[in-house]
Amino acid sequence: MPDFDFAQPTSLNEALELFAADGEVRALVGGTDIVDQLKTGRRNADMVVDLKRIPELQRLEIEADGLHIGAARSLTDIAEFPVVLSDYKGLADSSVLVGSWQIQNRAGIGGNVCNAAPSGDTIPALLSHETSAIVASSSGRREIALSDFFAGPGQTVLQKDEILVELVLPPIPDDSASSYLRFIPRNEMDIAVVGAGSFLHLGSDGAVQKARIALASVAPTPVRARAAEGVLEGNVLSDELIETAAVAAVEAATPISDVRGSAEYRRELVKVLTRRTLGISRDRIVG
Ligand SMILES: Cc1cc2nc3c(=O)[nH]c(=O)nc-3n(C[C@H](O)[C@H](O)[C@H](O)COP(=O)(O)OP(=O)(O)OC[C@H]3O[C@@H](n4cnc5c(N)ncnc54)[C@H](O)[C@@H]3O)c2cc1C
Repeated sequence: MPDFDFAQPTSLNEALELFAADGEVRALVGGTDIVDQLKTGRRNADMVVDLKRIPELQRLEIEADGLHIGAARSLTDIAEFPVVLSDYKGLADSSVLVGSWQIQNRAGIGGNVCNAAPSGDTIPALLSHETSAIVASSSGRREIALSDFFAGPGQTVLQKDEILVELVLPPIPDDSASSYLRFIPRNEMDIAVVGAGSFLHLGSDGAVQKARIALASVAPTPVRARAAEGVLEGNVLSDELIETAAVAAVEAATPISDVRGSAEYRRELVKVLTRRTLGISRDRIVG
């Protein structure tokens, strides 16, 4: 492991001052990505700043404008939070898939998001809930739609002196639900060959008021399947409509072939997982 300075600030302001310094300053929450990346030279750091002791980054609260999740809050805490289990089920589905119990206890949601892996499991669920990222630097705060947060594999739009403070998921209306599924060739401890998250809001006539679908591991960043959303919205939900949307979801995929699967296999998985996640979201609404 190369040498670097290490700090454990207990306030956001203290952390932001550290990030305003010259040199390569890296955030650490659980360290389940960054420690290995530093060891293997995929990232470098003059200073590593542990963000776990900052109270604002440990928030997990429901407010009038939605669910606020501090960037350092553990995936286990999120998956067990009653409002997540009742209203943001796709996020609960995805949080319990990351790694193992040990990883979920250790890792923060901000780490999964800021690591910006195309396969990051919580990201499609967050995108399907139209999550906003609240980021801060010593010069102020800004809000970024999570759909604009990713710039490429392992890259975000965060500036050098900015950190992710929290994620805000808007309140969900009645008759809506979300779900997340991924395919891996074994039961756990692997990354998604493809992941698919969906959110559905149905009207009293059974028509889709809003549909959000997001995919992992099929492009340089997690992506929304906007054509598939368009197929669903305004139409009465049926198995046939879900099938048409699943086929349309493939338009959003520009997958590569690698050891986990060929591009063709991934496109097929997009269809299968989109169909299934939409079916689960529907069943969660209609019982
Ligand atoms: C054995 C194993 C299995 C895994 N399985 C999965 C899996 O199934 N699915 C999956 O998605 N991932 C998986 N991962 C990857 C990893 O565990 C997750 O991405 C995890 O959520 C990272 O969280 P962390 O808190 O440990 O991040 P860290 O390693 O602490 O940080 C990750 C990155 O985000 C940056 N960062 C963290 N917080 C902030 C912030 N607030 N502001 C700005 N930048 C920040 C860090 O600088 C670093 O670049 C696995 C990892 C291991 C070791």
